[in-house]
Amino acid sequence: MAKTCAECGKPLSFFQRLGSSTCPKCQAEADRKQAAAAEAEAEVHARLEQEAAEKRYAAALLGEASQDDLRRLESDGYLIAGERLIRCPVCGHDKFDQQRTLMNTSAATLFNVAWVSGGADTRICRRCTHVMWFAR
Ligand SMILES: [Zn+2]
Ligand SMILES: [Zn+2]
Repeated sequence: MAKTCAECGKPLSFFQRLGSSTCPKCQAEADRKQAAAAEAEAEVHARLEQEAAEKRYAAALLGEASQDDLRRLESDGYLIAGERLIRCPVCGHDKFDQQRTLMNTSAATLFNVAWVSGGADTRICRRCTHVMWFAR
């Protein structure tokens, strides 16, 4: 019994029959289509992700983002304070590097900032390097 390609009807060789029901040419075409479909799906997914990120961002600027959204924004490098997204007051940039600054009591007293004696959350603007401090 001769087996033929399910796509183009060309007879398959014995070894090809062991592999799949399509000839190598049709198989390659099917693989290509599948890869293209996967790529298109990834593109849609990326676009949805992007839209969700923009929504989160806009909501956070208005102080309307959920706790979960705020956490995600923070992990993306944005600065959240008072449940709002904060931009750099100097240059308006919105991404910061986080640094935990520990200060011993004498240094804190020297700078007259006793409230940071337990350490402070320091954010450095990635564009202009302006530093913001949070006693948390
Ligand atoms: Zn074929
Ligand atoms: Zn800045």
